[in-house]
Amino acid sequence: MFNPKDVWDIAPCGTNCGECPAYKCKDNPELLEQVVAKGLKRESLPCPGCREHKGKCAFTDGDCETYACIEKHNVTFCFECAEFPCRYLYPCADRANILPHNMKLVNLCHIKTYGADAFRKKFLEIKARYYMGKMLIGKGPQLPSY
Ligand code: SF4
Ligand code: SF4
Repeated sequence: MFNPKDVWDIAPCGTNCGECPAYKCKDNPELLEQVVAKGLKRESLPCPGCREHKGKCAFTDGDCETYACIEKHNVTFCFECAEFPCRYLYPCADRANILPHNMKLVNLCHIKTYGADAFRKKFLEIKARYYMGKMLIGKGPQLPSY
């Protein structure tokens, strides 16, 4: 359904590499220093993105079990897999305020329904609702008012 070349900037698990600081620091030396200060290894930066790097995400120890599983299942995105959504994609409260893992499922659903271009356009809103939104029960996460 999707050609990996057309979605080089979006990891198969739904992580948006194109908006990741480890990728965006490629032409931003200040951001590169910030990313190094946060603990990423300088030699792994800038990261070319998950697909280009074959799953060697700079935030992992280089051994991404999810990427290996995706290769085994021969899918471009996890939503094409018969086992979707499996435990690798489950939400987790651990470090939910700083890591993007809880966005994977909504990212994948968005890409599946609306396509990759629409997802790229919508991503910053999804991100803002997740990290900065105010949750109103029954109304969903509201965008922050600036
Ligand atoms: S593979 Fe990991 S470190 Fe690299 S751009 Fe994607 S999310 Fe960022
Ligand atoms: S089992 Fe399927 S849905 Fe889960 S990580 Fe592997 S490829 Fe993705």
